[in-house]
Formats: sequence, structure tokens, C-alpha cells
Amino acid sequence: MAPEPHRLERARRPLPRSPFVVLGVAALFLFASCGTGSDESTSTITSTSTPSSESSSSESSTSTGLDTDLFFDGALAEEPTTEDCTLSDGTETTCYSITVAGYPSDHEVGPFCPETITDDADAGGIWLDGENVYDLDGQFIEDLAETYGDSTWKMYDEDGNVLVTETQEEFEAAARPDVDPDLQNHCVEGKLEWLENGEPIQTTVLIPTTPVAAAEPSSTQAILGVTLDGVRIDASAPVDAILSAYTIAAFDDCGGHFNPFEGYHLHGAVGCSEVDEVADGDTAQFGYALDGYPVHSPYAEGEAPDDLDECNGHTTEADGYHYHANSAAENLVIACLVGQTVQSDDAGGGPPPNG
Ligand SMILES: [Zn+2]
Ligand SMILES: [Zn+2]
Repeated sequence: MAPEPHRLERARRPLPRSPFVVLGVAALFLFASCGTGSDESTSTITSTSTPSSESSSSESSTSTGLDTDLFFDGALAEEPTTEDCTLSDGTETTCYSITVAGYPSDHEVGPFCPETITDDADAGGIWLDGENVYDLDGQFIEDLAETYGDSTWKMYDEDGNVLVTETQEEFEAAARPDVDPDLQNHCVEGKLEWLENGEPIQTTVLIPTTPVAAAEPSSTQAILGVTLDGVRIDASAPVDAILSAYTIAAFDDCGGHFNPFEGYHLHGAVGCSEVDEVADGDTAQFGYALDGYPVHSPYAEGEAPDDLDECNGHTTEADGYHYHANSAAENLVIACLVGQTVQSDDAGGGPPPNG
């Protein structure tokens, strides 16, 4: 199994560079493990505190939808446009077409994997496995067998050099569901120059200009949203598959990494791409969810207010309805979406194809 089957991570791209890539990915995904997140969509709805019911008490709610001006310079590959769109329950409305550049506009990506088992945390990024978030330093690599209770782990050579994917071929072979056995015990990292054409992969999403509440929250989206610096926020990384192949699909210190198909994308919110302005008692916005509501950084542990709903959202006077990202450790940036997303799955908003 592979670091990044990413079966659930398809999105329409404005200019697909090669149909073979898309077809190849689809074929590979047939063998990929089940995506994460979908089991949550069956959760029963006991909360009635949807944004609409909450905001109805406040005429001054600022939940007016996405503000395209909040995106950083260079975050969008094209000027946002509006077009007709159909939401998941059939509602006909207007959506922004947002094309993110696919590379953070405000910082370089990486580092991902440390080079030696004596490297400190500055030399690597982070790893998150659904329970914990770790600094990806040399010690973490050295301790893998102990951390995961399996002596097969040994991701370094006799000189203490960490085994890292070193070529585009290795990167792609490690990102397949059937990881090349030679790439077991490798720290997997990609580079911009290993993407097709050596360029960031743009992603276009359709986001309702005004959020529309859904009958019940959903969590089957392949793309959960976009960051203000131009990166897609993806569903959970397939951590079980990654670990069962004795690989680590390293994230950088902003919680993102490359895969060959989607380019650079985010799995953990750790405070990057935040706006400057923060309301008292809240955290800063860093992105938008696919239903059009803002996404704010996680609260520090123990500081979350008790009004957060099952999707980790709440309505405040300053910011209207917005989500708070889960902690990066959880490997799921946004728990679920309370608003409707666009019906067509090639806009990134629909349920995954069967399987
Ligand atoms: Zn990923
Ligand atoms: Zn908040």
C-alpha cells in the first residue's frame, strides 16, 4: 500500500496536462484502500444548531460568504469568476470558480524528511498519524520501530543516513498503492520539479457565493477547501496504508506535502496562511471550506469554546459562522461540512466514485 493513493483527491483541473495521468490514477485507485472520512457521513444528526438557525437570531451575522480579496497575492492562478451551479440537494445558485495556484504564495515548501538520524527538527517537517503529530527529526526516524511497535521499521543505513526517495521514479513508485518493496522503509518526499512539467498543479473548485445549509453535515468531499495562500485542503491522508508499507509520507512544517497527482496539498492545519486580523477569543482564518464558510486555525488544547458544533464550527458576532480546523494530529483538517457543496464531483465537491 502506498503513501498517497489519493483516490478521493480528484479535482477538475483547468488544463489537464495528460489524460494518461488521469486514467492511470483512476486505475490505480481501484486497488487503493478505502478513503477516510466517509464513515463519518453516517453519523446521525442530533444537533439543530445549523448556521441558518443560529444566524437567524442575528441580522448582523457576517456569514455572507467568501471574500475573494482575502486570498493572498499569487494564491489564485486566475481571477475568480462566478457561474451557475447546482448544489448537492439540487439548489440552483451561483458559485465562485476559484483556481488555486497549487503552491503556497507566501513561503517555500519543505523541508520534509531529515537527512540523518542526528538531524534536529529544523531539518525536517512533521508527521501526523491521526493520533499524534511528531517533529520529523532524526530521533523520530531512529525511534520508528519503537513508536509503532514493529521491528521491521529501520529507515536509515549503517551510517545513520535516512533513506529518502531520491528520484522522481522512486517518489512515484512510493506513491502507488503497491509500493515497490525496495521503497519500504523510505521517507517519502516529493519535489516541485518531479511534478509533471515541473510546475505546481492548479485546482479549480466551485464554491457557493452564499453558503446554503445542508439537511445534514457531510464529510465525503475529496477536497475540503482551499487555503488563503493557494493550496488545496484535502481529506485525510491514508495513514494506515502509508504505515503498513513502512513508509512515512512526510509533511512540511505547514502540514502539506506533494503527491504526483495533486501536487502540493494540505492535511494538517498548523497556523500557516493566516489572516492578520483575529477577533478576541477566536483564532485566525486561514482558508475557506468548499461550502463557502471560512476555516480558522485550531484552538489551542483546552481553549476551545463549548459552542462548537459537530463540524467544529460556531457563529460569532465578529466572524459569523466559521469552522475551526481540527488539530493537525487528527489528520483531518475539517471534520465535516454543514453547508452544501457543488453536485458535480469533478468540481471537487461531490462524493467519491463508487468503491
Ligand atoms: Zn496527501
Ligand atoms: Zn471561532
